[in-house]
Amino acid sequence: MALAAVSAGWVARSEGSDQKRSTRAEVVAQLPRVLSQARMRADLLALERIADRAGGSRAAGTTGYRASVAHVRSELERAGYTPRVVGFPFVLYRESVEKGMQIAPTRRDLRVEALDYSPPTPKGGLRARVVAADDGCEPGDFDGVRGFIALARRGTCFFAVKARNAANSGAIALLVFNAEPGLFDGTLGDPQASPIPVAGIDGAVGPELATASGSIVELELETSRQRSTSQNVIADTQPGARRVLLVGAHLDSVLVGPGINDNATGVAALLEIARVARKRYPDLSVRFAFWGAEELGLFGSSAYAKGADRSRIVGYLNFDVLGSPSRERTVYKGGPFAARWLGYFERRGLRATQIDIGGRSDHFPFERIGIPTGGLFAGDYACYHRVCDRLESIDLAAFDQLARAAAFGVASFAPIQR
Ligand SMILES: [Zn+2]
Repeated sequence: MALAAVSAGWVARSEGSDQKRSTRAEVVAQLPRVLSQARMRADLLALERIADRAGGSRAAGTTGYRASVAHVRSELERAGYTPRVVGFPFVLYRESVEKGMQIAPTRRDLRVEALDYSPPTPKGGLRARVVAADDGCEPGDFDGVRGFIALARRGTCFFAVKARNAANSGAIALLVFNAEPGLFDGTLGDPQASPIPVAGIDGAVGPELATASGSIVELELETSRQRSTSQNVIADTQPGARRVLLVGAHLDSVLVGPGINDNATGVAALLEIARVARKRYPDLSVRFAFWGAEELGLFGSSAYAKGADRSRIVGYLNFDVLGSPSRERTVYKGGPFAARWLGYFERRGLRATQIDIGGRSDHFPFERIGIPTGGLFAGDYACYHRVCDRLESIDLAAFDQLARAAAFGVASFAPIQR
C-alpha cells in the first residue's frame, strides 16, 4: 500500500508542464503572480453570503461560523488537501440588552455596545455620575471614581487594563469612547478580565460627556458567558513533514458584522495560496491554519500553540485585514520576515511601513512560545468591526497587492522538501 501511494504521488507530480521541480528563486518570482483575483473575490463573496444568510455575522458559536468552516473545508478538499477540523474550548459570549441613557445635564439616548465578556449590570440597570479618566491606562487616571461610572478614551492599552484599573478604583462601570465618530465592538479578551460592566460609546459623544460637569448616565447590559467549543481548520501541503512554515488567518467575525475585510480577506488570500501551492509547487512545506474565535480573544490560535511541536515550525505568518481603503501596506515589526517584505514592496515602487500590532492578532500566541512571527496588515478603516464591513467597502486593488505579498512570504520562507 505504502509503495503504491508513493508511486501514484510521483506519477501525479510528473505529468503536466507545470510539474517540474522549481528552484527557490523561481517559486519566489512566480507564486505571487499566479494568484487568481477572480477566485479570491469568489471566496470573499461566498463568506459575505454566508453572513447574510446567518443574520449578518460569522462570529464564533454562530451558524455563520459553522458555514464558514464548511466553505474553507470544501475549498481545501477541492484543491486536493485533507483538511482537519479541530475543536477547542472557548467561552461563548452573548448580549441581549444594551441600553444607555444620559439623564443630566440633558436627557438623551446614549447608544452603547457592551465589550465582549463584559459582565451584565444589575437587572434594570444602574445609574450614576460619569467621571472622566483620560485613556484609563494608569491606575491614577481613576482618582475620584469610587461609586461612579468611569469614562475612558479608547487606545494606548488593552480594554482589560482600563477595566481592571477602573474596578480597582471602585468604579461601578466603565464606558470607553471611540477615537472617531461611531460605535465600535471590542473584546476584553478574557472572560474573567473585568468584574464591572464595560461598554463602548460613540466617539462623537464621548468627549462631550467627559467635559460636561454633572453628567449622569443610566446603563443596562444583559450579557451571558458560557463554556463552548469552536473549530480551527488545518491543512498541510505535505502531511507529516519534518519542518513546516505555519501560515494563518482568522476565520471568525465579530458578532455585529460580516467581517469581510476583517478577515475574509486573509482567508481568501490563504485559500488561493493553498490552491496554487498544491498544484504548482508541491515541494513547499506549508501548513495552512484558519483560526476560530480570534475576535473573542485569540482562542483558536492559543489552543493550537499550546499543543504545537515548536521544533518543527520554522515560523508563523499572519494575515489579518488585507483590503483597507486606506491602502497602508504595513508589515509586522521585528522578527526575521519584516525586512524581506519591505524589500518586496520597495522593488515594486510601493510604500510600506512597519507596525507594532502587539497582541491584537493570532501571531501573538506563537511569538510567546518563541516561534519567529511576521504578518501583513492593510491599515485601520471606518467599517472595522461594524455592519458595513462588506465587500463594497474593500479596496480590491489594495487587497490584491497584499495577497500577492502574502504569497511572496510563503514562497520565501516555506521549507522546500522533496
Ligand atoms: Zn482581525
